Amino acid sequence: MGTPTIESEEHRALRKAVAALGTRYGRDYFTRVVAEGAHTDDLWAEAAKLGYLGVNLPEEHGGGGGGIVELSIVLEELGAAGCPLLMMVVSPAICGTVIARFGTEEQKRTWLPGLADGSRKMAFGITEPDAGSNSHRITTTARKEGGDWVLNGRKVFISGVDIADATLIVGRTEDARTGRLKPCLFIVPRDTPGFGRSPIAMELSAPEKQFELTLDEVRLPADALVGDEDAGLLQLFAGLNPERIMTAAFALGMGRYALGRAVDYAGTRQVWKEPIGAHQAVAHPLAQAHIELELARLMMQKAAHLYDAGDDLGAGEAANMAKYAAAEAAVHAVDQAVHTLGGNGLTQEYGLASMITAARVARIAPVSREMILNFVSHQSLGLPKSY
Ligand SMILES: Cc1cc2nc3c(=O)[nH]c(=O)nc-3n(C[C@H](O)[C@H](O)[C@H](O)COP(=O)(O)OP(=O)(O)OC[C@H]3O[C@@H](n4cnc5c(N)ncnc54)[C@H](O)[C@@H]3O)c2cc1C
Repeated sequence: MGTPTIESEEHRALRKAVAALGTRYGRDYFTRVVAEGAHTDDLWAEAAKLGYLGVNLPEEHGGGGGGIVELSIVLEELGAAGCPLLMMVVSPAICGTVIARFGTEEQKRTWLPGLADGSRKMAFGITEPDAGSNSHRITTTARKEGGDWVLNGRKVFISGVDIADATLIVGRTEDARTGRLKPCLFIVPRDTPGFGRSPIAMELSAPEKQFELTLDEVRLPADALVGDEDAGLLQLFAGLNPERIMTAAFALGMGRYALGRAVDYAGTRQVWKEPIGAHQAVAHPLAQAHIELELARLMMQKAAHLYDAGDDLGAGEAANMAKYAAAEAAVHAVDQAVHTLGGNGLTQEYGLASMITAARVARIAPVSREMILNFVSHQSLGLPKSY
């Protein structure tokens, strides 16, 4: 799969180096970890040691001093090698970014070096059972009691809470002046009393589990609040753009991996005189999938460059479009890859069928295809809202 020449030498070298690491682990490693109900700890630790997981975090806190451009390259290449690290989307990308941009000096000192060297992970919890796509309706609330914060609420589909040292929880506090609820971010350590989690049985072949969370009178010290109580929304959006860009990278990696397997197969499988890849009915959909993935990558690169340049607003539109395009490209690529392998597309030996479900994740999370189309209809095209 070609790498676009618009990337700098440095970025191409990063791609190559991460691809080499990914290839050393590969799909067999990922499949084995999933089968054992284990986690991708070895790959996580090695990628962190090489500086890849903290590449976007500030140098003074142990990171690489780069941005989301570099972090998305890392995730895409690991995915393209068959061994994506989903927690990269939440730990360094959302939580690391929010803390680096808005955290207190103490929060930065406490969390960033560990997120950068991989020794600590953070999960991110915004989705609620009764709010779903409408995050304005979340009801997890934080009230002040003495110097403490007390949180109550529920969250659902939160990834990796069991392996994360803490979860960045999006809650709401009451504005003392207006009485209106405003979003706030809290760092909730895994074993805080009242912070309960139960795994959700998912039809997904992935090492990371999803959890339903209950926050029952969770008492946190004053410094659990990230940043400014009055700038919650701004801080939240600072984390959501990297989340969308990284989900695009996750989807692109998966799509590229599946397409690669299909191309290998189509080039060698022979049931008539020539390999099946010589039939245009087999070749053209694969070519189309390749084009869709390349186009989605361009939009992802645009979003990442805008974000790293500090243009949060411009990055917002591009990040949504990139997530949309990459998810659709990945869903198509995986579907076509499974079809290209005929019956083998559904065997465990080739391991592609489970990617059909995995690819759908990028269409649903962190924001669904329809909500992105709503965003573009309203924000980009100026059309009226139906809700
Ligand atoms: C594997 C996985 C991991 C996840 N990890 C995390 C995580 O770590 N942290 C976290 O906070 N969340 C996480 N999520 C949650 C994810 O972000 C939500 O599932 C997603 O935002 C959709 O919310 P919902 O499932 O409640 O669907 P709903 O909001 O109930 O939507 C259901 C359907 O209705 C459509 N719909 C809803 N409203 C509209 C509308 N106004 N117009 C048109 N269509 C509409 C949606 O597009 C969707 O197709 C994860 C989800 C999955 C599947």
